[in-house]
Amino acid sequence: HNSDIAFIGLGQMGARMVNNLIKNGEKPKVYDILPSNTKAIQGAIPCSSADEAVEGSKIVITMLPNGSIVKSTILGEKGILKRLAKNSLLLDCSTTGPQVAQELFQSAQESNVRFLDAPVSGGVVGAQAGTLCFMLGGNLKDYQEVEPLLLHMGKKVIYCGKSGAGQITKLCNNLILGVTMIGTAEALNLGVKLGLDPSLLTNVVNISTGRSWSSDTYNPVPGVMENVPSAKNYEGGFSVELIAKDLGLAGDAALSINAPIPLAAMSHQLFRTLITYGLAKKDFSVIYKYLQGEKVE
Ligand code: NAD
Repeated sequence: HNSDIAFIGLGQMGARMVNNLIKNGEKPKVYDILPSNTKAIQGAIPCSSADEAVEGSKIVITMLPNGSIVKSTILGEKGILKRLAKNSLLLDCSTTGPQVAQELFQSAQESNVRFLDAPVSGGVVGAQAGTLCFMLGGNLKDYQEVEPLLLHMGKKVIYCGKSGAGQITKLCNNLILGVTMIGTAEALNLGVKLGLDPSLLTNVVNISTGRSWSSDTYNPVPGVMENVPSAKNYEGGFSVELIAKDLGLAGDAALSINAPIPLAAMSHQLFRTLITYGLAKKDFSVIYKYLQGEKVE
């Protein structure tokens, strides 16, 4: 067992990722601000603070909701950066955008800690199955060192370039994800309202040019697929508030270089609208119910 690893943030993604580390023989120290999430991980060393988790760790992985929480956890008053051993490796797998990543890289460097941005793609299904794609930004040597460990949680680890490049890659991916989910939900709703069976329509789309992850792996229509959020009243999965965050980050990045992203901007506003309908914590495929005009409890 290797107890040199700390894992902070055990939510939808983190809990599943850390379970795959454990399955592969690691014994990480784990911490989540919700004690029930910390206790739920079997085969790890539960900790009651982030400080306690990182004490003596050589590799620290964070999987937290957003950039401001990541920053306060690492750089804040009680931030873990102060506690990290020299030359240890800090990996943030959260989606925070390039600016936060570069800021953390800089601060880490000043403390002789190595930092990588390492956001992931694959959703809770990929996290569960250990088939995530990791997108890394930072120093090439650090990426090479950490790749074997990340392959316990994913099937691909891609070096994207200097600090922030992993985050930029992730934002571009999620821009496509947000837009295609809405497009898929819109088309399936149209078909259903015109009398088609959503499973039949999905089968055709999936062997045709409209296919995407949103149609073939994460279908938004209840009853079309098993083990996806739409089969569980849109519980779990990738929350509306998180896709809204990512589209907002894409907007910030686009503004900084004056690139137009019209569909992402519209998608951002649609997901923000769902938040005002009380759907912040639902999976983002709930957009289907919204377009259907149906209430979701
Ligand atoms: P989540 O909200 O389910 O999990 C976040 C966890 O962090 C929660 O358990 C929460 O209690 C914990 N937490 C919050 N503040 C904390 C603190 N100060 N200290 C310790 N723990 C704290 O979110 P998630 O869906 O697991 O997503 C995590 C990150 O990964 C986000 O940045 C998200 O954008 C990204 N992401 C999510 C998915 C997905 O499908 N859910 C896919 C790829 C990337």
